Amino acid sequence: MSAKMPMVTQATKVARGEPKSEYKPVHVSPSRRQRKSYTIRLWAVRHSLFLEWFYARFADLFLMLHPLWHLFGYERVEAPVTSIERGVKGLLFDCRMCGQCILSSTGMSCPMNCPKQLRNGPCGGVRANGNCEVEPEMPCVWVQAWKGASQMRRGKDSILNIQKPVDQSLRETSAWLRVTALAAAAKQKAKEESS
Ligand code: SF4
Repeated sequence: MSAKMPMVTQATKVARGEPKSEYKPVHVSPSRRQRKSYTIRLWAVRHSLFLEWFYARFADLFLMLHPLWHLFGYERVEAPVTSIERGVKGLLFDCRMCGQCILSSTGMSCPMNCPKQLRNGPCGGVRANGNCEVEPEMPCVWVQAWKGASQMRRGKDSILNIQKPVDQSLRETSAWLRVTALAAAAKQKAKEESS
């Protein structure tokens, strides 16, 4: 009978290569993921179809409100809207406010929770149980993304789209407002071209 060998990941190899030191940070990770429970994040993935439907309605509503945003000025409404967005998406998705949301293309699993912040699929280090090689307690966000996307209507195909690198200048800004302003501009352009 052969004894089960412990899994050696890339992260383990890197850690073993490091010289021994007295200081080992406690509960600290590059993205501040010290929490032990991923319950709500996983709930969002399980309900990706509903959230996809809901987000489409929500985006329509935000677009309908464009005259209001325009009247007050996008710059003025940015702070309160960003704060609400941070709260809601932080709770549901552990959002990191990258400002260029791609949840609808990643099965409602936020790719910025990947310790390597990969936006185009998993690295080669996913554990056999589907967890992250860097954070063994955390389900790999890309394994979850695939699960979530496979339940969605558009997300099923859009997960295959190649995502651009993160534009760091958009961090901590509102993806909701940005998408709305872009959609309003596109709508206006289409109207002008047809008249
Ligand atoms: S993709 Fe960006 S905006 Fe969307 S939930 Fe993740 S960090 Fe937040």
